This record gives sequence, structure tokens and C-alpha cells, in this order.
Amino acid sequence: MDFKSSFMDGMVGVGDMILLESLSEESLLVNLKERFKSDEIYTYIGNVVISVNPYKSLPIYSPEKVEEYRNCNLYQLKPHIYAVADDAYQSLRDRDRDQCILITGESGAGKTEASKLVMSYVAAVCGKGTEVNQVKEQLLQSNPVLEAFGNAKTIRNDNSSRFGKYMDIEFDFKGDPMGGVISNYLLEKSRVVKNVKGERNFHIFYQLLAGGGTELLGKLKLVPDCSKYNYLNNDPSSLNGMGDNENFQIVKNAMEIIGLSDAEVTSILEIVAVILKLGNVEIKGQFQANGMAACYITDTKGIKEIGALIGLDSSMLENAFSVRTVEAKQEKVVTTLNQSQGIYARDALAKNLYDRLFSWLVQRINESIKVSEFQGRKVMGVLDIYGFEILEVNSFEQFIINYCNEKLQQIFIQMTLKEEQEEYTREGIKWTRIVYTDNEVICTLIEDNTNGILAVLDEECLRPGKVSDATFLAKLGTKFKNHKHFQSKVTQNDKRIADLTLPDNCFRIEHYAGQVTYNTDGFLDKNNDLLFRDLSQAMWNAKHQLLKTLFPEGDPKNSSLKRPPTVGFQFRNSVSTLMKNLYAKNPNYIRCLKPNSSKKPSLFDDVLVKTQILYLGLLENVKVRRAGFAYRQLYKPFLERYKMISKKTWPQWAGEARDGVAAMMAELGIPDEEAALGHTKIFIRTPSTLFDLEDRRRR
Ligand code: ATP
Ligand code: MG
Repeated sequence: MDFKSSFMDGMVGVGDMILLESLSEESLLVNLKERFKSDEIYTYIGNVVISVNPYKSLPIYSPEKVEEYRNCNLYQLKPHIYAVADDAYQSLRDRDRDQCILITGESGAGKTEASKLVMSYVAAVCGKGTEVNQVKEQLLQSNPVLEAFGNAKTIRNDNSSRFGKYMDIEFDFKGDPMGGVISNYLLEKSRVVKNVKGERNFHIFYQLLAGGGTELLGKLKLVPDCSKYNYLNNDPSSLNGMGDNENFQIVKNAMEIIGLSDAEVTSILEIVAVILKLGNVEIKGQFQANGMAACYITDTKGIKEIGALIGLDSSMLENAFSVRTVEAKQEKVVTTLNQSQGIYARDALAKNLYDRLFSWLVQRINESIKVSEFQGRKVMGVLDIYGFEILEVNSFEQFIINYCNEKLQQIFIQMTLKEEQEEYTREGIKWTRIVYTDNEVICTLIEDNTNGILAVLDEECLRPGKVSDATFLAKLGTKFKNHKHFQSKVTQNDKRIADLTLPDNCFRIEHYAGQVTYNTDGFLDKNNDLLFRDLSQAMWNAKHQLLKTLFPEGDPKNSSLKRPPTVGFQFRNSVSTLMKNLYAKNPNYIRCLKPNSSKKPSLFDDVLVKTQILYLGLLENVKVRRAGFAYRQLYKPFLERYKMISKKTWPQWAGEARDGVAAMMAELGIPDEEAALGHTKIFIRTPSTLFDLEDRRRR
């Protein structure tokens, strides 16, 4: 095989940044920029691929390209996401190792596109046949459905995933796909009721209105005009060019391929319609004869339509928006809601309805693609999850997202080290300890069972008495006043932070990727995520089968059930399951970078990219990768490439390749500590030694 090292011949910049001569965030930036300018959007750090979003279509994903990368050696061709996908698939099929593909990066960096490229590559190279093709089709078609319900246009990305996704694709022993399982994480449900200028609600609302057609919309009592719905953004800049009509047809077709019945699709769309109508239910305030504030619904037509769609007496719904029943000591206490509480109840219902519908949809897709018990299966997991976020105001959601990224960084370091160690052991090379920045202390600060920030938050949420975001913050302040990675104003007397510019309602965490200030307003409420019981009971009383199943706690039989676990608790558990799942697999990393904030092709914003290099910990990544040996290569291709620089090996080495390489290294006087000879590979410690070999070769 002709060994053609991609990072040296005819290559722009350095294809593998492990081989950068000087190492700093700046040198990574310069290299990525140089490559980006020549449309080289992929660059390696060892077997990690860095991808810079080109914001234009490049001719690098054709079927011919797939063929080129099929069965290639990672270093033979230009860096490409296909090479990583191929490496993972080959290793799964031939070496029987479960794989995971971890895709990270900030919003708009190209994670979802990358995950689809990986999936379509694997689909293209794995088994053929009618049955297998049907499985592939179902797996691929889950994407448009989940994107319709889980993605939205935001300022940063026209197709932004507002949920985290992990998908296990399962293969049989031949490497043919059999099915899969999808897990979803924390949908941004507040978007359902909140309009941000220039952004949209979830795609499905607009798609239904644009593509539903007279008959369907008539049945749902909807009009094809989004300006008629309060929950939809009507700012024209947010609506242009989204192809909602075409996409609706794609989504309907995808749902059919996945195996949803017509009745199921109708049920789903009815719930979507109900949510749109909820947004138009106008709630006004009034004073009762006793002087108490109360609320009422101004126009009952809308609420009657909702009642008709879901098979519920609309007075029950009306009631649920205007009173709240609390059971205390076997006694029912009914309080009236004022206007803002009534609106809060309505919006809470809309958000919960959508969130539960989304999770149901994921489960429904899983039912279709699941594999019945089968021994000897192999798994490829693909993780497309929100990247590290620092916004102007960081709230509970950012806290949760950044915690997840902290865990991913931890597992990245641990797995990279583990992998390095395993390779050295396999090759019979002496293992030297690698020094690295460990972020375990930050993970513990957040997730420790009894003493972590999430545990303190739960404690406040469950504690009877007067609790608030402020009491929560005060507790944190006392508990962590000496913690290296935590700061808050409660510890004002502490000289260490006397001059802090930190607002009173905030705390700050020193994450591996940088400092983030979190505003605690709403932490308790968001963590509790309680839906008034009157609302869940009303929903459970509806005749609409799907809707009813979304609110099991509304069943009076379940009224004694304990309160549901908090959002933080659930998230911590799912992150922990995810980590265990990932840890058991062989990792493959795709780290996505966004070149500019204006979604423009060919524009590379140095400051923006540098920040991401920092957040993604890329420098640390390179350091860990080359802490032991920067470069490694199988003996044969190595000898082929460098045989001309040694008299002993030129023009042809007759014996074993390993002996040839040993003879060459001895002749060139390369010191022992610079090169180690493993069972199948040569390991070179510093890049300059390799460059030296390259120079000699060119002379
Ligand atoms: P979010 O976190 O908001 O979901 P993301 O990282 O998933 O963001 P994508 O939706 O994958 O980002 O990408 C944003 C847009 O960038 C895509 O809709 C597409 O227009 C463009 N894009 C991303 N990757 C590529 C690529 N490889 N080639 C061409 N365009 C791309
Ligand atoms: Mg995405």
C-alpha cells in the first residue's frame, strides 16, 4: 500500500495538529484558519477530527468520496469525517468493539449535520438487501421527524436542535444494522410559549400551518396563517425561506416510513393544534365580591374548540385555569388564581404538553426501530448534544448544559488516557504517566450526591417552609465559600472576593472552559417543574387517548404517588447512565467549530474561533495526545516512506519491516528516548524528530 502521509504532501497547514511545531491556542487557530481558507474544513488531533462549518455546500460528500474513504487507513487520505466514521465502523465490524461518536461544539457549529453525515456514511457502506435497507431507512428517517419537533430557528442557527440526542445503532455480527434506540435530553420547552425577536417556535407548528392543506386544517380548526397564533413569532425576518410546506410533506412521509399509523399522526397533530389554540386563550383578571383577585377567560370559543379536539368538557379546562386545589391533611383547599397565575397555568400546560408529546414521540420511534433480544450485537452510539454555553444571562438551563459538558470533558480526558495506556500496553512499550488538568473537582462540586450544587438545589425544592432562589444561593455561599471553583456574594466578608463584580443573585463557577456567572432567578421553579394538579387531572379526564396517556399522574388512583423527581435529579441520572454507556465503548470524537456568527461562508472570525478552541479544550487535547508519543505508525508504511534516508534500508530492506526501522533509527542516531519500537508500530516522542526525518527525505 502506498503510504501517503496527508499532513505533509501537498497539504495546507498541518493536517494533524499533534504535529504542530509550536503549541499554543494561537498556533491551533492559525493552522485551522489557513486550512479553512482553502476549504479544508477537517483537521485531526490524532484520531479526533475538528470540523469547521463551511456554511456552503462542498463537493466532498459524493458517493465517489464514500468509496474513497471506505476501508481506508485514517492517515492515507485528507482528513475527513468519513475517515473517522469508517474507522469506527471497521473497528466495530472487524474487531468487535462497540463504538461511540461524540460530537460537540456550540450552536451552529455543525453537530447535527456531522451526525447525519456519519449515519449516512455508515448506511452507505454497511450491508445490503431489502430488510436491511428498510432498517436503514427507518433509522435515517427518524432525523426529519425529531428535527421538526425538536429544532427551531434561533439567532445562532436556522435549524437549531433544542434537545440533546444520543442514538445507539445496533448491528449484527456481520455488521448489518438491525435497529436502534434513541435517548433525548432536556428539550427547551420554554420556547413553546416564548417569542424572541428573530427566532421561531419549533418547526412543526409552522410546517403544519403551511403544509397541512384545507382538509386537515379544517378538521383541526386551524387557519393557514401564523400571524393568527400568539405562540408563533410573526416577525417576518424569522419566517423567510424555511420551506415549511415542503418540509411538512417530508415529515409526514418520514412518519409513515417509521411506521406511525394515520390515526397516530392525526393524534399528534391534534395535540400540536391544541397547543396553538392554548396560546390564544385570553385570560383576564377581575376582583371577586370578597375583594380577592381572580381570573377568567374572555372568549370561550377557543377553549370549546380545544375541548372538542381532546374530548373534554371545556368548563373543566376553564376551571383548571382559574383555581388551584391543594390537598392538605385529607382536606381540599381551593384557591382562586389571579390573572398572572392563570396565564402561568395556561403556559405551563402548553409547555408540558409539548415536552411530553416530544418524549412520547421518541419512545414511539424507539418502538419501531427497536431490536428484539439478540445475543452478540454490536453498537455504535452517536451523541449530538448541546455544547458549552456562556450567554449574557446564564440560567438553570445553561447550568445543566455546562454540567453535561464538564462531564463530557472528564470522560474525554479519561478515555483518551485509557486508550493511550492500552495502546502502549498492547505494543509492549513502557508507560509513562501523563500530567493533565483534571476537572473532577468541578464535576463533584456540581453533582455530589449530598454536597453538590444540584443536591443543595433539590434540598431547597423539597424543604417545607419559606424557600426561594435567594435561600438557595445563601446555602451555596455558606457551603462552598472555600471552594476553589466557586464564588458568590454571600461570602462578602471573605477578603478573597471582596472586590467581586458579581451581582447579588448570582454565583460563578470556574469551569474547565472558563468562568460562567449563573443567575439564580427561577432555579427553584425550573428544577421543580410542577404542573398544578388541576391541570393534569383535567388532561387525564380527556377522551383523547394519546393526550390522556401523557398525564398518568392525573389519574385519581395515582394521586398518592410521590412527587416526580426534580429536573436536576433526572438530568444527573441520565448523564450518569450516558457516561457509563459511553465509557464502555471505544470513543471517536468530532469537535465542531463555528467560523463566524453571521452564518456566512468563507468568513473566519479569529476571536470567535479562539474562544471555541478554549471551550473545547483543544490545546489540552493536543497535549494529552502527545504527552507520551506524538506520532505512531505501522512499520511497513513507515519504512516505505523513509527508507531512502538510510543506506541500510535503501533501495530495499530484505528482512522484517520492524528490523529495518530499527536499523534505520540506529544509523540516523535517533536517541532511544525519542523513538520506541512496539510490536507493530514505531512511536516517536516529539514532532521535531519526525520533521527532521521529513527534511532528510526531501533533501
Ligand atoms: P445546534 O446546537 O444549534 O443544534 P449544530 O451544531 O447542530 O447547532 P447544525 O444544525 O449541524 O449545527 O449546522 C448549522 C448549519 O450549518 C446547517 O444547517 C448547515 O446550513 C450548515 N452546515 C453545518 N455543517 C455543514 C457542512 N459540513 N457542510 C455545509 N454546511 C454545513
Ligand atoms: Mg443541532
